[in-house]
Amino acid sequence: MKLDELDNLKKQALKEILASKDGKSLENLRVKFLGRKGGELTKILRTLKDLPIVEKRKIGPAANALREELEQAFKQKLKELLTSNPQLPTNLDITMPGKKIAVGHLHPLTLVENEIREIFKALNFSVVEGPEAETEHYNFDALNIPKDHPARDMWDTFWLKQETRDKKQETSKKNNTPHVADRLLLRTHTSPVQVRYMETHQPPFQIIVPGRVFRYEATDASHEINFYQVEGLMVGKDITLANFKYVIQEFFSRLFKKTVAIRLRPSYFPFVEPGLEVDVQCVKCGGKGCNVCKESGWLEVMGAGMVHPNVFEAAHYNPRDLQGFAFGLGLERIAMIKYNIPDIRLFYSGDLRFIKQF
Ligand SMILES: [Zn+2]
Repeated sequence: MKLDELDNLKKQALKEILASKDGKSLENLRVKFLGRKGGELTKILRTLKDLPIVEKRKIGPAANALREELEQAFKQKLKELLTSNPQLPTNLDITMPGKKIAVGHLHPLTLVENEIREIFKALNFSVVEGPEAETEHYNFDALNIPKDHPARDMWDTFWLKQETRDKKQETSKKNNTPHVADRLLLRTHTSPVQVRYMETHQPPFQIIVPGRVFRYEATDASHEINFYQVEGLMVGKDITLANFKYVIQEFFSRLFKKTVAIRLRPSYFPFVEPGLEVDVQCVKCGGKGCNVCKESGWLEVMGAGMVHPNVFEAAHYNPRDLQGFAFGLGLERIAMIKYNIPDIRLFYSGDLRFIKQF
């Protein structure tokens, strides 16, 4: 009885193998007869163990022999198909969707920077850039932070090697050229671009300055030795804090895509007077208090203030004629709030598991 079954199976399988026209249908046949799960012959082989020993001795070898025979027949047919149509791999399925090629994408910091640029452009701000290697003059002196001013301690600085500049320095001392004798450093903030821009442009204007800055300090979850800032500067005859408040509230509402309350607190930066810290109402809890805002309901997001008269003077403006506001925000800080990222070091870790989430 079982032997008959095997015999029928053999006839049917060989007939179908012979008739198959391509690799795909051949593969389907292989699965149908020899497939590990539910192949016709496999099923018979599986029932062998339940048979009485006498029958097992007869059917076992016959079934195994059939398996070998069929495998051989499949191999033979595959060879035939390949030689008759050598260009096509037999497992080619032209209806299968193509392999997706991994395409690179923008870093979360670039995404946020682009968004900030777009918002300020829509508010009629121009985007300006400046050098990362900066002079002591633009990074400090022109921003009302003269040498030996205690405020310099607010920025731990990477100074650049002097050797190549020493000779120039001597010449410039003789010729009394201003600024050239400055020591070089990696800019500690984007504020030097304020002075550079004012030296070459006349108000009224409004600009933002996105860029990389450097601090010589220990890293932790909220500090990195290099990070990105976006500086802002608006100067005109009668620019006031009210203008600042409007621009900044509008900016944060567009950035976080809902109307957010802001709060201004008095603070100190040498290049502004008065100086301010700007808080936005916590975008996660809406001010009720949560782990993101450390239960305070507010997030510190930017330093700002009205441009100090000494900064106008350093840029050869007359401070009696002009007023302006300036602000600076940390790009990482904004991205951390926007995407709920717990550690600033993740941005520079090069860890694809992090990067691929954006
Ligand atoms: Zn909160």
